[in-house]
Amino acid sequence: MATPRRLPQDAPASTMTGLEALLADVRACTLCAGNLPLGPRPVLQADVRARILVAGQAPGRRVHASGIPFDDASGDRLRHWMGMERAAFHDPRQVAILPMGLCFPGSGRAGDLPPRPECAPNWRARLLQHLPQVALTLVIGRYALDWHLPGLATQGVTSAVQAWRSRFPRILPLPHPSPRNNRWLKANPWFEHEVVPALRERVQAVLSAQHEDLSSPLRGDRDALP
Ligand code: SF4
Repeated sequence: MATPRRLPQDAPASTMTGLEALLADVRACTLCAGNLPLGPRPVLQADVRARILVAGQAPGRRVHASGIPFDDASGDRLRHWMGMERAAFHDPRQVAILPMGLCFPGSGRAGDLPPRPECAPNWRARLLQHLPQVALTLVIGRYALDWHLPGLATQGVTSAVQAWRSRFPRILPLPHPSPRNNRWLKANPWFEHEVVPALRERVQAVLSAQHEDLSSPLRGDRDALP
């Protein structure tokens, strides 16, 4: 098991300030408003102390309504895979959640539309620069694979997940946890038997030191979106 690294009690002021300013810009973004059926509402969470990054696809309709990342059945399954309670998962000091598209892109006949193509090129690299403590990145679905693991993305999600050991323990490709993927999960039982236990162990190792530090009310500020 990896040796847990202690969480910096106070993030560098300039870095925290930089992220806060960037998050304010993200909140005000209207770049692709004309293509968003429900209008802009970026749904993400980030803090410079985050140790885990969840790189997802885009908020669904329910998440758009609540403004809470993964506040849906996909989130329930993802938290189960990670072995995390809701409160810890939604603590941006522990988990940063940055979907490839930050706003709900609308729905089509086959489900939600892809993340808006304007979003990641405009925001993603800048946001990731403010997450220097991330020790585990969960790459969920095709669009996140294209960005974070382009070498594996060409093979498709199933092959990328089958090759999960290739970048572990720092990066782990995952199938989308949506109920729409139940058939995939049933056809690939090795995922629950092999990958999920390894994921839980890694999450626990990465966060174990943080749990002690974050239990103090005097530790740094929370910086959540929206
Ligand atoms: S999806 Fe991204 S680029 Fe489009 S309005 Fe939302 S934050 Fe801006």
